[in-house]
Amino acid sequence: MVFFRPALRYDPASPAPQDTAALAVLDKRRGRSYNPGAMEKLHFGDVTVERCVESEGPSFYPGFIFPDWDEDAFAAERRDWIDPLYFDEESGRLLMSLHSYIIRTPHHTILVDTCVGNDKHRPDTKPWHMRQTPFLEDLTAMGVAPEEVDFVMCTHLHVDHIGWNTKLEDGRWTPTFPNAKYLFHETEYAYWEKADMGDGGSGMTRRDAFEDSVLPVMEAGQAVLVEGDHAIDDTLQLEPSPGHSPGHVFLNLETEHGSAVFTGDVMHHPVQIAYPEWNSRFCYDPPQSQRTREAIVERTADTSTLVLAAHFAMPVAGHIVSNPGGNGDRCKFQGVSQQGGRLLTES
Ligand SMILES: [Zn+2]
Repeated sequence: MVFFRPALRYDPASPAPQDTAALAVLDKRRGRSYNPGAMEKLHFGDVTVERCVESEGPSFYPGFIFPDWDEDAFAAERRDWIDPLYFDEESGRLLMSLHSYIIRTPHHTILVDTCVGNDKHRPDTKPWHMRQTPFLEDLTAMGVAPEEVDFVMCTHLHVDHIGWNTKLEDGRWTPTFPNAKYLFHETEYAYWEKADMGDGGSGMTRRDAFEDSVLPVMEAGQAVLVEGDHAIDDTLQLEPSPGHSPGHVFLNLETEHGSAVFTGDVMHHPVQIAYPEWNSRFCYDPPQSQRTREAIVERTADTSTLVLAAHFAMPVAGHIVSNPGGNGDRCKFQGVSQQGGRLLTES
């Protein structure tokens, strides 16, 4: 079989076309749709995990987001396991997603990361600027009204993880989830509170993102600054995972019926499971980010722990397997829908 390798371009003018037009084109071409919440509900005994999608589709060019990538190595992984799920050959872009996870325990409803949000002034990232999506309506349709959220947990405070923390109401940014405690890691908060972002910063580091999506939560008295190993309840515990940002944290779910780890942006795309040395261009401390990524790959490989990242496209939930071909291959990501939709962890 002849493998056609498209030209993969670096296009700084359009780094993140995760907009509805791109999605519509992709949907039409593939004859499939990206339904919010299309990830099967994961059951861990009486704890469930779903996702609410803000947008999903062709996103960054690999050479843009991974400055140290190797085109031939990427092509080999594509042939082996990445295409067509996690790469869009036609556009030459990675397939990625912006979504929140909804965790329901017998005691609490927890939202993990809150995407870009509506009405936010983000002129340097065009698809995110003054964005309008039905995220909140979708969340409500999934049975989670805003007032029912008990905790909002941000793995870190980059612009695409804090947006729905607030919404515009009568010209003011107010917390979207009126009864929630918002958990911010104290190291992460302290960094962004003091960060000198000069003219306002750009991309992931915008000062105005902190001011419109984090500070109003603090001023409303709904923010809780937590330490790295903070336990939300008896099944959910934070874990420091610095590198991508100064105070990035994982969220570990541990139950008698299985475990999962919400990995935030320590990995942006499944290819980083095969190549954990490929940092994203948005990493604060690339060597530390690599060490953190290598550690989570090693720890979860060949276990039943589900890996739930912040930007993987469908299938989103999966396991890491090492050397699957027995040929010294690199690790791979196996989405659970590739296993017939049933999970070892399903009750
Ligand atoms: Zn992100």
